[in-house]
Amino acid sequence: MKANKCSNCQYETIVELAFCPKCQQQAFNETTVPNEGTVYSFTTIRIAPPEYIEYAPYQVALVSLTDQLKVTAFIQDEVAIGDSVILKEVRDNAYVFEPQN
Ligand SMILES: [Zn+2]
Repeated sequence: MKANKCSNCQYETIVELAFCPKCQQQAFNETTVPNEGTVYSFTTIRIAPPEYIEYAPYQVALVSLTDQLKVTAFIQDEVAIGDSVILKEVRDNAYVFEPQN
């Protein structure tokens, strides 16, 4: 997936930032980060807000893509910390991941 990388300090982010939060430079270049990663932490959502009620229960996970970059992921399946997951789609600005077998 696409990400932005600070050309000064190598900070990576998937969101558009005007200034690098680490070094305060405006020196982002577009980069590509892996579409797969590992589950760093997660929360199971059993009582979902109305717009997501059809998906409950589901997992909202923090997925590590690189040493520095973690993304918030929507995962329908049950997962555990350390599981390998892969990006399935970007739906309504949410990163939908699924377990990788
Ligand atoms: Zn920086």
